[in-house]
Amino acid sequence: MKTRSDKIKELPLIKWDLLIIGGGITGAGIALDAASRGLKTALIEKNDFASGTSSKSTKLVHGGLRYLKQLEFALVSEVGRERAIVHKNAPHLVIPEKMLMPLVKGGTYGRLSSSLGLEVYDILANVRKEDRRHMLSKEETLAVEPLLNEATLLGSGYYSEYRTDDARLTIELIKAAQRKGAVCLNYCEVKSLMHEDSKIIGISALDHIGGTAMNIQSTFIVNACGPWVDHIRAMNNSLTKKRLHLTKGVHIVLPHDKLPVKNSIYFDVPDGRMIFTIPRGRTTYIGTTDTDYKGDLERVLTTREDAQYLINAVNSTFPGISLFISDIESSWAGIRPLIHQGGKSASEISRKDEIFEAPDGLISIAGGKLTGYRKMAEKTVDLVIKRFDKPDEKRFGPCTTRHIPLTEDPLWNEEEVGYYKGAISRKISELGLMDYYAGYLVANYGKQTELIVGLMNDFGDAQPEEALIRAELKFCAEHEMVCSSTDFFDRRTGRLSFDIDRVNRFKGVIIDDLAQYLDWSEQQKMTDRNLLDQKMSDVTVFQADSV
Ligand SMILES: Cc1cc2nc3c(=O)[nH]c(=O)nc-3n(C[C@H](O)[C@H](O)[C@H](O)COP(=O)(O)OP(=O)(O)OC[C@H]3O[C@@H](n4cnc5c(N)ncnc54)[C@H](O)[C@@H]3O)c2cc1C
Repeated sequence: MKTRSDKIKELPLIKWDLLIIGGGITGAGIALDAASRGLKTALIEKNDFASGTSSKSTKLVHGGLRYLKQLEFALVSEVGRERAIVHKNAPHLVIPEKMLMPLVKGGTYGRLSSSLGLEVYDILANVRKEDRRHMLSKEETLAVEPLLNEATLLGSGYYSEYRTDDARLTIELIKAAQRKGAVCLNYCEVKSLMHEDSKIIGISALDHIGGTAMNIQSTFIVNACGPWVDHIRAMNNSLTKKRLHLTKGVHIVLPHDKLPVKNSIYFDVPDGRMIFTIPRGRTTYIGTTDTDYKGDLERVLTTREDAQYLINAVNSTFPGISLFISDIESSWAGIRPLIHQGGKSASEISRKDEIFEAPDGLISIAGGKLTGYRKMAEKTVDLVIKRFDKPDEKRFGPCTTRHIPLTEDPLWNEEEVGYYKGAISRKISELGLMDYYAGYLVANYGKQTELIVGLMNDFGDAQPEEALIRAELKFCAEHEMVCSSTDFFDRRTGRLSFDIDRVNRFKGVIIDDLAQYLDWSEQQKMTDRNLLDQKMSDVTVFQADSV
């Protein structure tokens, strides 16, 4: 892998075919698509990869059942089919998950409409016969999920979705794009756009780590900045007609024994919306809210009101459960970059993606879903290639990303993932680690787990858990462009959300190791520690005032 300084030297030297601004799932997907078709591709991200919305989603690769209610058949069909492709290309990371939708008196769906709706959902998404929805009676539902409210329950629908880790998906896409020749740099911010004869020819950027300012030239520039798309569009005054409509979505995380659901559940809440509870490892997470947002995009916080809304929703659905804000271990808040539709509320706005072309040639892509990233990338790169002069067009092949595995040495299907997890489980138990880590490691890293387990030898004197987390850091520093302890605890390992106790326990040793790998001064170490402490406070302390 090229080093950070190699990339900083190379970026201004080459005239790129395509420069992508933004390293969320949208930008990462475009980078892989373009590089694999032979375009000289670069991507720059102002913060860490996936630090925007792409680490703050519900972490489902799903067809979007709620869009069926809005009669968005084409959207449901497209994202439904995409689920299967993303699962095939990363079966360790995009994992089949049965979803339970309870039917309750006065709820959103009746028995007939949900049975029909779920059947249409399966057909549109081309779900295999054996995985199609089952309708369960009240008794069958209580047998699979005893926590539900017997008094109001009528039955349920049991249907297929996939769960994932959004940030890991983005990081693996970035790595896959780099293997195809793309140059991707985090912590490098676009400050302005460069023009010649009214056409966009490049950007001026600042490397936030070394402080280097650089100009990068490219034939085409794609703005994939998610909630910041309009900030880039404002730089060339192309913010006309359509604009973004930003809405905030919050999730809270509790220890699993506080909400010991056996299934992922998609349920009605009193205000007519529907939310998810999803068991994950030793936790259960709950989300999401959907409220208009006009606050600071650099620091999006969960307020007390957001947290209380989700707590109330759970307490009113599960009669034996009585949660308090103080039970919450962690949380995250993200911004949906939706396209404004006059007169529609946050929840009603379509999740469709759209491409805007500015008169100077800047291409912006906004809206959409994590699940649809591959198709969004295909559409964007098709457009870029169409805009090339005719003779150039022949140079580039068609989109092949449906056949590109996301990791270098992939596990090919669910069976292989299962065998591999078994082998890792035996290996790590010999090393004194809990079995929980086999599932965690394989879901996070796939076959790269072997490398990490091997690296544990470098920390032979440490306790097994410490040796493992330090081995993970070493792997991430060498292969995944980690530049801060927050990159590691949040986007590379998910511990900031799902294992905050261990962040507390190991942050000292992780910052020490990282300081050694990145050659930090005492001052840089302190800055990093302060940033991590602030992030830990942001996800655990909820302000009273609503943003
Ligand atoms: C609460 C919530 C739940 C969701 N749940 C799901 C779900 O379960 N399934 C699903 O499919 N979808 C879901 N989504 C939608 C999905 O998360 C988003 O559609 C997707 O993550 C958007 O990705 P993006 O790459 O477009 O934006 P982002 O991930 O925000 O990436 C944009 C990047 O651009 C960078 N950037 C901005 N300005 C600059 C600049 N000047 N220079 C360089 N870089 C810049 C930012 O730092 C950022 O990293 C959810 C969204 C939310 C908010």
